Formats: sequence, structure tokens, C-alpha cells
Amino acid sequence: MQAFKKFMREANLIAGVWRGARSGKTFEVNNPATGEIIGTVPDADGEDTREAIAAAQEAFLSWRKTTAAQRAAIMRKLAAALEANKEDLARLLTTEQGKSLTEARAEISGSANYVLWFSEEARRIYGDTVPSPWSERRILVLKEPVGVVGAITPWNFPSLMLSRKIGAALAAGCTVVAKPASQTPYSALAWGLMAEEAGLPPGVINIVTGDARKIGKELTENPVVKKITFTGSTGVGKALVAQAAGTMKRVSMELGGNAPFIVFDDADIDAAVAGAIQSKFRNSGQTCVCVNRFLVQSGIHDAFVEKLGAAIAELKVGNGLEEGTDQGPLIDVKGVEKVEEHVVDAVGQGAHVVAGGRRHTLGGSFFEPTLIVGVTPSMKVAREETFGPVAAVFRFEREEEAIAMANDTEFGLAAYAYTRDLGRTFRVLEGLEYGQVGINAGVITTEVAPFGGVKESGMGSEGSKYGVEEYLNVKYGCIGIA
Ligand code: NAP
Repeated sequence: MQAFKKFMREANLIAGVWRGARSGKTFEVNNPATGEIIGTVPDADGEDTREAIAAAQEAFLSWRKTTAAQRAAIMRKLAAALEANKEDLARLLTTEQGKSLTEARAEISGSANYVLWFSEEARRIYGDTVPSPWSERRILVLKEPVGVVGAITPWNFPSLMLSRKIGAALAAGCTVVAKPASQTPYSALAWGLMAEEAGLPPGVINIVTGDARKIGKELTENPVVKKITFTGSTGVGKALVAQAAGTMKRVSMELGGNAPFIVFDDADIDAAVAGAIQSKFRNSGQTCVCVNRFLVQSGIHDAFVEKLGAAIAELKVGNGLEEGTDQGPLIDVKGVEKVEEHVVDAVGQGAHVVAGGRRHTLGGSFFEPTLIVGVTPSMKVAREETFGPVAAVFRFEREEEAIAMANDTEFGLAAYAYTRDLGRTFRVLEGLEYGQVGINAGVITTEVAPFGGVKESGMGSEGSKYGVEEYLNVKYGCIGIA
């Protein structure tokens, strides 16, 4: 038996008990690299979710009373458990998700880093004392945990997305009902094992897998749940916000993107190409912050395209479990079809394929790393999130034109620019309507900085001190002392 299989729980965790769905139903999970069914997990519904919410509420009553130091100590153990089991958890993640082992290992370490960071923040959840306008009264501001949190996560980072939510919730003193993506439930269920190893009390973390609509409806409509945190597509995010409005829940939404990557004439071209490869092809282009549009200034355009093409040719496509693989399969054939549709549409409107452009000879959901030039704003690849390994290059002449092109989208998650001009750095940083901007940096996510989008890319921040605030209520206390 492969060692990682001991972390493959085929049950949900509710109130500290591993169990199936009340209906007895299950669904299959497959390996996107091989198409092989790797196992089945419970197909939970609203009733199971209600029980998980009740368990989380029961646990909240005592978890909220723990000291910050007690929570931090358990969270350090949780981070240590993730790190200690990194190799197995990474293999499990690659098996259900497809990304390379190198990336999967980095994701598990990243998850541990979030938990560790939040364990430190738990001890710094300060309130305020405010100078009072009344001599006989004192004013205090207390920070209190919001309560039970419903957390819904996507398949592209099945561990990391959970860590940002669970880490912040635990630090604040909240309890959680998590619903992972159906294509990658095992990485989330393994968090239940890590929680047990760390000694988290039963009910503090509950994990339900299954029917997204039924689970989502219960999480958003049940009045016991006080906050919904969601990472996923903009369409589902909007529906969840509407559903959560009925009980006026707090919401954090990390949604889709359409990231621009601007390369100015004065850029360090090799650094820009290295940043482009990391940002575009990580996770086979299936990250919400990955570049969707390369905007390249005329003077550097041809040289950049040539070097990017050469770097793309070096990418090794294969099963993520094989060491040395740079790009694994896409999550499923539907993902491939969308990528293909974007390439065909661009070529039909006059774009030119420099590299790749087709399904990979490995078959299944593998797609060739692709470079297309001559892209214009009317093409699908310019307007929609491609979510695949396609580098689409536009040409521009002036700085203001590039900023306007970059902002010409309803999304506002991440943007990148390469320049060595200091004044331009600030003009671009301030001009881009995005929640996060990398200047001369292609991968910028870290637990210490706020991650989040503006416009239709969502609301709220994850990670950093701002990420904890999302799980806290502010209470004003006015104390008469006369
Ligand atoms: P998705 O379809 O929105 O699914 C995300 C999660 O929502 C999954 O757990 C899914 O469950 C669940 N879900 C689907 N329909 C639901 C409903 N009606 N009610 C409640 N839950 C529902 O997104 P995806 O295609 O898996 O993920 C890719 C998207 O996520 C991209 O747009 C990407 O940009 C975005 N993303 C954003 C960030 C960020 O931080 N901004 C990070 C990563 C990804 P099932 O799997 O069971 O359908």
C-alpha cells in the first residue's frame, strides 16, 4: 500500500466522529492524471450539515473561552502535524488534484505556515480603550469571535485554501464547518486527522463532503452559522452572498480573476520571463492569481515573446507524481475544453500560436503549455478567466494605455508589472484596480500579507492581521463608574 493512503479518510468528521452521510450515499473521486477512481467519500446533504453546524455551535461555547495561549499551543501542534506529514499529504494532494509533487509539497508547507502565523496572531487580538467624552464613563472596544463559520473551498488549492480559513477562525476562537470541493475532498478530510493529532476538541473542526447546493444552502441559511467564507468562482460567490443575506451573515469572498502581467520596455527581461513562467504555469495555470493577459510594450515585445517561448519549451508535462514534472494535467476534461475554446476563438479572430495550442499527446486532461500572440480585447482569452496553461500576449505602446487595458475587466484580484523605473512603479501600483499587485515579482502570496480582491473578485482579506479581523466582531462597552 502506498504510505499516503493511511491519510485517505472515506468519512466525514462531525462532532469528533468519523461517519458516512445519513443517506448512506457516496461519490467517487478520481486521479486526473490517470482517470483512475481512487476512492469514495460521503455524499452529505443538508441534514448532515445541520448536525455538523450543531456540533460546531456546541464546541464554540467552550472553544471561545479558551485563552489565546491555549489556542496558539494547539495550532502550533496542528502546523507541526502538517509539516511532519508533508510528504504523504503532498502525494495525496497530487493524486487527487494533479499538480506536481514539488508544488504539492510547497502547498502543504504553505498551509502549515498559515496556521503557524495565525497561532501567533491569536495572541495579538487586541481591543482598544478610547478616551471618553464623559468623565464618569469609560469606553472599551472588545474583539469577540463571530461564532460558527461555514467554509467552502475549491479544488485548485485543496489544502492551502482551507488553511487560510481554518487558521484565522481558530485564532479568533471560532469553530468551523468546512465543505471542500468534490474533486479534491481527501486533502481536506486529512485536515481532520491532523486536527485530531493536534488535540483540537471534537466539533471545533467539522468536515462534510457532498452535494454543494444542499450543503451550501444549509450553511448560508442556518441562523446558527454567523459567517460564510468562500473561495471559488464569481458566479457561485454571488449566489452564496444572496443566500447569506437572509440571516445577515458576515461574508468573505475570494473569487475569480483575470490577472494582467505588464512588461514595460525598461524591464529586466529575464526576470520578467522567470516571473511569467511561475505565475502563468504554476498549477497548470489553474490559480486565481495566475496571469491571464500578458501586456507587453512594443519595444520589448518580440524579445520577450522569444524568451518566453524558449522557457515554455523547457516545461516538462506529465503525471505530477513523477519527479521532474513541471506541469500536470488539468483538473478535468471540462477544464481542457474551456482552454481549447479560448485558443480556437483567439486564432479565429487573428491571434497566432507560437507554442503548444493543442491537447497533449498524453491524452486525458493534459494540455500543451501554450503561447499565443496578437491577442486583442474582443477575444475570450482577454475577457474570461482561462484557468489553463495559455500565455496570451497583447502589445501596447504607452503606460496609460497599459493601465487602462489592465483595468478593463470586471475582475480585480491580482496584477503584475515589470519595470525598473521608480516613478512608474508607483504610478502603476496606484493605477491598477486590484487587491494585490506584484512589481518585479510573479508569485507574491504569503501568509503575512493580505490576500483578496476588489470589484467582482470578491471582498475581504485572508492571511495577515487583516485576515483575523474577518472572524471577529467588534463590541463597544460603555462603563459608568460614578
Ligand atoms: P466553484 O465551482 O465555485 O467551486 C468552489 C466550491 O464551491 C466547491 O467546493 C464547490 O463544490 C462549491 N459549490 C459549487 N456550487 C455551489 C453552490 N451552488 N452552493 C455552494 N457551494 C457550491 O469553483 P471551482 O471551479 O471549483 O474553482 C475555480 C474558481 O475558484 C476560479 O474562478 C478561481 O479563480 C477561483 N479561486 C479563487 C481564489 C481566490 O482566493 N480568489 C482562489 C482559488 C480559486 P463542488 O466541488 O461539490 O461543486
